[in-house]
Amino acid sequence: AKANGGNQVQIYEKSLQTKAIETFEIEQELKSALKREQFKVYYQPQVDQSGKVMGAEALLRWFHPEKGYIPPDVFIPMAEQNDLIIEIGSWLLDTTIKEMALAIQEGNSYELSVNISPRQIVQKDFVEKVLSILKKYNVPANKLTLEITEGIFLKNIHDIRNVMHQLSEKGLKFSIDDFGTGYSSLSYIKSLSIHELKVDRVFVQNITTDPDDVMLVETMLAIANHMHYKVVIEGIETEDQVNFFNKYEGLIFQGYLYCKPCCFNDFIDYLGKQKRD
Ligand code: C2E
Ligand code: CA
Ligand code: CA
Ligand code: CA
Repeated sequence: AKANGGNQVQIYEKSLQTKAIETFEIEQELKSALKREQFKVYYQPQVDQSGKVMGAEALLRWFHPEKGYIPPDVFIPMAEQNDLIIEIGSWLLDTTIKEMALAIQEGNSYELSVNISPRQIVQKDFVEKVLSILKKYNVPANKLTLEITEGIFLKNIHDIRNVMHQLSEKGLKFSIDDFGTGYSSLSYIKSLSIHELKVDRVFVQNITTDPDDVMLVETMLAIANHMHYKVVIEGIETEDQVNFFNKYEGLIFQGYLYCKPCCFNDFIDYLGKQKRD
């Protein structure tokens, strides 16, 4: 048994080492992914309770020529450790606003949500950068929602309040992503320009069977209602989940049941199909 245990330890250490090498390789590749045009923007539709498409969330995709698809949960945290996330974030904003301008020209309008990392929002010129991209493509500011997570409030809250206030004045909206999964206190919602809450998939998954999740979701809906926030329910996968949430009014749904994240052309098709129905 002892010899066996020794072997197991060895195997374990080896796989850790392999993992470390893989992580290192991905980090190196990440530095050149942008200029090698390996990133794509996918869109996941957001629908109202009648099924009408209201908008989409932009989600970053990295297709590596040898390693294949690398999920954002793997590379975003790496990019967030340095200024790479700022470059990638700027590229994503530019690309999504450019694509929206294209859609508007062709008579297709939608609301766009974009994920913003803490490091991005605290850049000195963040406000100017966002406004200049909107101006460049002549897209109205009220089409754009910036999704931030509660982790952001661990940074300098005064600067962030300022940025949110300045951009809100121009018509942009702010959404709290993964609401209730972070470590920050709730007090921030009183003093910030917030327009939307996103209820995370972890609360939705078992909503038809778990009374704890029902209580948590109802609490979030009560907060949103009181604060006049819009609510997006994420990760809707089943009709039973939809039926549960249809007890409430004014919700926006996002999830595989409606549509998986897809490329721009497929998203525009999805929008257009609905118009013809
Ligand atoms: P998120 O912002 O919470 O995005 C929602 C994630 O849930 C997406 O995963 C989406 O594909 C997935 N999802 C949507 N509907 C369903 C469903 O019905 N079932 C299941 N199982 N999953 C669903 P994705 O695209 O892998 O993104 C993961 C995370 O990576 C995002 O979580 C976000 O935190 C981050 N991320 C993605 N794109 C960007 C970006 O451009 N910038 C930044 N800063 N972060 C990004
Ligand atoms: Ca998000
Ligand atoms: Ca989320
Ligand atoms: Ca998430």
